[in-house]
Amino acid sequence: MKFEDYRISDEIKKSLEKLGFRKPTDIQYKAILPIMKGEDVLAIAQTGTGKTAAFAIPVLDKLQYQINRRRTDGIKCVVMVPTRELALQITEVFEQIGRHTRVKTFCVFGGVEQGPQIAKLEAGIDVLVATPGRLFDLVSQGHIRLERVETLILDEADHMLDLGFIHDIRQLITKLPRKRQTLFFSATINEKIKELAYSLVNKPVRIQI
Ligand code: AMP
Repeated sequence: MKFEDYRISDEIKKSLEKLGFRKPTDIQYKAILPIMKGEDVLAIAQTGTGKTAAFAIPVLDKLQYQINRRRTDGIKCVVMVPTRELALQITEVFEQIGRHTRVKTFCVFGGVEQGPQIAKLEAGIDVLVATPGRLFDLVSQGHIRLERVETLILDEADHMLDLGFIHDIRQLITKLPRKRQTLFFSATINEKIKELAYSLVNKPVRIQI
């Protein structure tokens, strides 16, 4: 199966072609259709497998469709990540794949001043990529509202636990709608990760790469 055979918007197909992505990678092949159907996903996949596009393609496709009908109001997708570096990388992938769409992606992370991030947030964004600590601070201060979120993605969940983000993640979950799609990605799996994963996902499609 090639990307041109997928029922995704022409705007996204155009950027995939430009990026030289013709065929889905293994994780993309297994994850894109379930995500498009609205299912939860629990995936064990390492960096380098194409996991970022595996969630960016279906999320952007859905948002592009929504925005074409009516401008959306508020953040629709949150991607939680362990580090600033990963936040920037994922934002870049959303921007590249979404460059012909009207979807706006932005990232926030700790270790830098909040002011400029807050100013950007006010412009209105659809996808927010964030480290849990900074996200928690901005939500607590009322700069970010999560009531409209439809898709929650946790990327490198194992690394987030190693960095001690569990408390922030648990607090943030309580601010998200209970009815949502959750996509959980981790490079490794153990009891602690399983416990977190199964407290967040609902009848997930399990994928191991
Ligand atoms: P990731 O695992 O998301 O960090 O992606 C690893 C690398 O694979 C990135 O450099 C992507 O640009 C590339 N990539 C992702 N999906 C595809 C695809 N379907 N075809 C070719 N390259 C891809």
